[in-house]
Amino acid sequence: RTDNDIGIGIQSGTRINIGLKTGTWIGIEGVTETDMERRTEVGIENRADIDTVTDREADIEKAVAAARRAFHRKSEWRQLTASARGRLLHRFADLIERDAEYLSTLETTDNGMLYAMSRLMMQGIAGTVRYAAGLADKVHGDTIPSDFEGFTYTLRQPVGVCGLILPWNGPMSMFVSKVATALAAGCTMVVKPAEQTPLTALALAALLAEAGVPRGVVNVVNGYGPTAGAALTHHPHVAKVSFTGSLEVGKIIQQAAGASNLKRVTLELGGKSPLVICDDADLNVAVPYAAEGVFAHQGQVCVAASRLFVQSKIYDEFVKRAVEYAKNRKVGNPFTEGNQNGPQVDEEMMNKVLGYIEKGKAEGAKLLTGGQRIGTTGYYLEPTVFADVTDNMTIAKEEIFGPVQSILKFETLDEVIDRANDTNYGLAAGIFTTNVQTALQFSNLVEAGIVWVNNYFTFEPRIPFGGFKDSGLGRENGLEGIQQYLETKTVNIAVPKLT
Ligand code: NAD
Repeated sequence: RTDNDIGIGIQSGTRINIGLKTGTWIGIEGVTETDMERRTEVGIENRADIDTVTDREADIEKAVAAARRAFHRKSEWRQLTASARGRLLHRFADLIERDAEYLSTLETTDNGMLYAMSRLMMQGIAGTVRYAAGLADKVHGDTIPSDFEGFTYTLRQPVGVCGLILPWNGPMSMFVSKVATALAAGCTMVVKPAEQTPLTALALAALLAEAGVPRGVVNVVNGYGPTAGAALTHHPHVAKVSFTGSLEVGKIIQQAAGASNLKRVTLELGGKSPLVICDDADLNVAVPYAAEGVFAHQGQVCVAASRLFVQSKIYDEFVKRAVEYAKNRKVGNPFTEGNQNGPQVDEEMMNKVLGYIEKGKAEGAKLLTGGQRIGTTGYYLEPTVFADVTDNMTIAKEEIFGPVQSILKFETLDEVIDRANDTNYGLAAGIFTTNVQTALQFSNLVEAGIVWVNNYFTFEPRIPFGGFKDSGLGRENGLEGIQQYLETKTVNIAVPKLT
């Protein structure tokens, strides 16, 4: 974000309009909670179809009640067939494609993501909705052979009202992967975006309304975690919470579920993902992938390749090239074409990253480039490379969430597998090698929810995503994703033998 002026207001109808006062305008400085409430309330008055309310716990109460009404067995939503839900989702995807430029502008304004990246992601975002649309009428149960005189079948039914809690780093992609899947399953929901990024969820909710999703099915409440978020996770009428965010809050959410109504919980949490570069890797491919793996989106990515293990024979050459790559990376206004890194999301996150850099230096890692804030306007950081990092250093253990590459040396595959697994996290992992046996051995043994071989960061709505260990619970996307929004019901019917 820069400190230049920006005016933001939610106008009548279904559009959020952003007013610009200067050429560079990324940031919502000076928007107080009251401002946000007032503006959001203006939004409610003008919004006929979807409840969009504010931060108070009472608003969560209101939103959950709306979602509960919309889940009643006689509601318009519950009367829709599964294929009709699929058609609504396809319409939603059409509208996302129609408004792609507007939505990606909003996303970049909201969190500082490079515009080139947010624009590119729109295709995947619409694709995620279409994948969910296709899934809607493919949810079905089983028939199970019975040893008794009976007939047994299962039904897979929507779990009920869902609380969907989003992080700030990918607000739009998180919104669609949770909301579209929950809608395909037939659930109703209350969405709470991160306080840093309130905009795109409102815009997407407006598009859902325009697509024809009935009133009360999707409710957006912008608010803070300990108030709005906690009210949602403790609510006795919320049947399930799907959360993406930090490990710390993930634990609080699971406790809230246990302390309230034992709601179902899906958690997508942090990571400290190992990327392994073997001696036989093609460095022309591996160096850029490793750099993008930790610098893309300023390192604010849950699967960031934040522990880079490089085999000893190529270590010196790799480090040299990695430093060159980082030095050449262009940092600046995310709307300017050609820039490769934008700003960190806010001052707090920037200072947190700078704190980790200081710890890295103090604990003896070799800082080879970067390490500083750029200028005093906006929260821009230099792409940073540390070499000679060891496993016990803080920068090798904790999630930094910034553009900091930490390079560690290794000798053998056996050794690096143990070191890669020596973390409480288990979200993603990667390996660059031309030896298929090495790739398969590593993929089998590394403790991670996704393993990339000779690439990094490949995501598709068809592939399940989630973490081992402290990185999460459950899976999103793919066929497994929709199961998290369903309950299985078994029906057993006595069928006496005809004698
Ligand atoms: P965060 O945990 O601080 O906040 C996430 C959300 O939780 C926000 O909406 C926040 O308001 C809410 N929240 C905070 N306290 C709460 C409480 N007590 N009860 C209920 N809700 C509460 O995380 P963040 O800083 O927004 O996001 C960064 C983190 O998210 C990183 O750790 C990152 O790795 C992780 N992440 C994981 C994935 C994944 O899919 N595994 C994807 C993106 C981000």
